[in-house]
Amino acid sequence: MVSCASCRVHRKKCSEECILAPYFPPDDLDNGTFETPGARVNDPVHGCTKDVHRLRKQIADLESQLAVKQVELKHMRSEYDNLLLVLGTASLDSQLFQYPTDAI
Ligand SMILES: [Zn+2]
Repeated sequence: MVSCASCRVHRKKCSEECILAPYFPPDDLDNGTFETPGARVNDPVHGCTKDVHRLRKQIADLESQLAVKQVELKHMRSEYDNLLLVLGTASLDSQLFQYPTDAI
């Protein structure tokens, strides 16, 4: 008797009476389609498909947020570089132009 995928994952002894065996064929682990037992029990037709869609949407949202933040970061770096240029010039100006100390 070949253990079903659920029994293999949970390292249990599988039998012909195993109630999970019909939902977790032995080859589920091999082809990478193994799902958590709860998802398949809760929704025998779709299994964890809903979770997969939710997580894909979450990934897409986070990638979108990341793209926005990367643009903001690029903009801030540009402003920072410009500020350094202005400060560098101001620093240079203050070195070139010194107030007469005896007039104060
Ligand atoms: Zn089993």
